[in-house]
Amino acid sequence: MLIVFLGAPGAGKGTQAKTLAAEKNLTHLATGDLLRAEVAAGSELGLAAKAFMDRGDLVPDDVMIGMIQGRLESPRSDGILLDGFPRTVAQAQALDDALSAADTSVDRSIYFEVSEDELVRRLAGRSTCPDCQRAYHDTFNPPQNADKCDDCDEGLIRREDDKPEAVRNRLKVYETQTTPVLDHYRNAGKLVQVDGEQSIDAVQSDLAAAVG
Ligand SMILES: [Zn+2]
Repeated sequence: MLIVFLGAPGAGKGTQAKTLAAEKNLTHLATGDLLRAEVAAGSELGLAAKAFMDRGDLVPDDVMIGMIQGRLESPRSDGILLDGFPRTVAQAQALDDALSAADTSVDRSIYFEVSEDELVRRLAGRSTCPDCQRAYHDTFNPPQNADKCDDCDEGLIRREDDKPEAVRNRLKVYETQTTPVLDHYRNAGKLVQVDGEQSIDAVQSDLAAAVG
């Protein structure tokens, strides 16, 4: 079984991926984690990726594809759950090619649908204490006194890229890149949309129905 998870940052893919992978005995390939592991191991791929990441650039398709390809072969499980890949149509096509060479294909591509306003609410509310590094969130984990650390009463700080405008920009980039990937799977009859604004349990049961 090969499942692809698609959705913006903050859409809740990671949480659901862990549960579904455990339930269905799938190997969970989260590309962010894989990249960090390759970089930490100092592999050829890791070094190539690091050069781009250090400049703040996206890791190019061929590096990402190389990293995923090696892991598609003989997983020690009942299948693979891809989380964070493919991000572009070139990556989706390369994935199709690699799979068809192995006589298989993507079974389901699941899109976590969450409105931009909700994503901004989830992503933009973060703050941290500069003193003890404790993390807060305006909605999910607010401090007792506004913008003050519960432990040391220090004023909380917000990272530039966690501010609403920066978050909206990041989401625009994501959307521009990913809309054609959604079309790619929709045209292949493999796309399933799941309402990602429901409770974690409701999303989980929709996923179970989608995956079968
Ligand atoms: Zn503190």
